Amino acid sequence: MTVAPLRPSRSDTIDAPLALLGGTFDPVHRGHLRIALDTATALRLPEVRLIPSKAPVHRASPGASEADRLAMLRLAVADDQSGTLRVDDRELRRDTPSYTVLTLQSLRAEYPTRPLLWLIGIDAFAHIKSWYQWPQLFELAHFVVLNRPGYAVATALSPALADLWQPRLAQEAAALRATAAGRILLHTVPPQAVSATEIRNSLANGASDSALAPLLPAAVLAYIRSHHLYAPRAG
Ligand code: ATP
Repeated sequence: MTVAPLRPSRSDTIDAPLALLGGTFDPVHRGHLRIALDTATALRLPEVRLIPSKAPVHRASPGASEADRLAMLRLAVADDQSGTLRVDDRELRRDTPSYTVLTLQSLRAEYPTRPLLWLIGIDAFAHIKSWYQWPQLFELAHFVVLNRPGYAVATALSPALADLWQPRLAQEAAALRATAAGRILLHTVPPQAVSATEIRNSLANGASDSALAPLLPAAVLAYIRSHHLYAPRAG
């Protein structure tokens, strides 16, 4: 009798959803890691890629260099025992501004059939119509909109975005596996009251390690200290 070798099913391999979390990560903080891991668990996502942006397209300049932001991300991800989190530095290697549509096009070229899930906080989703070639985003990926303290769900569901939601709203996460792109899911994660702005401000104001420890992975905080990032201004 021959026994067929055990193989993972197709849905677990080729067409397993690939989740993406883009950001400036200036610096990466526990909020980023928690929303990525909690969403991965809840939606059964095997991999979440953290994608640091090169030039700030949608917002003011970040405070740390690209090399430092990338190094901190790599340290943060090295802490992840589950192996779910990866760093994808394609935006830093690319010779163009960090337009998400270009990032999604390059991922789609690599993964023609895989559902791509762009994870995004309500604060960022509220500005989605200012993104370069925004209608194309929904041809390339699904969007998973995550709650964030200080940003009401109503902000993401504002009338200005109703035309986006109405044809695309997914009632259940399963819908994100049925097609490769085009749906929007509002997903609730345990709230993470942390922002990179708050961390930069705290560092500039001379915050102690014990005050920062709940907000940052230890290795990231050590890197910030040893490279004198976001340091209080002299004088
Ligand atoms: P900054 O304070 O500099 O704006 P940030 O903390 O918002 O930084 P980003 O790198 O800009 O961090 O965020 C990347 C993505 O992660 C965005 O989609 C953002 O909405 C989301 N995000 C960041 N922090 C949180 C959080 N605490 N809860 C939910 N979503 C978050």
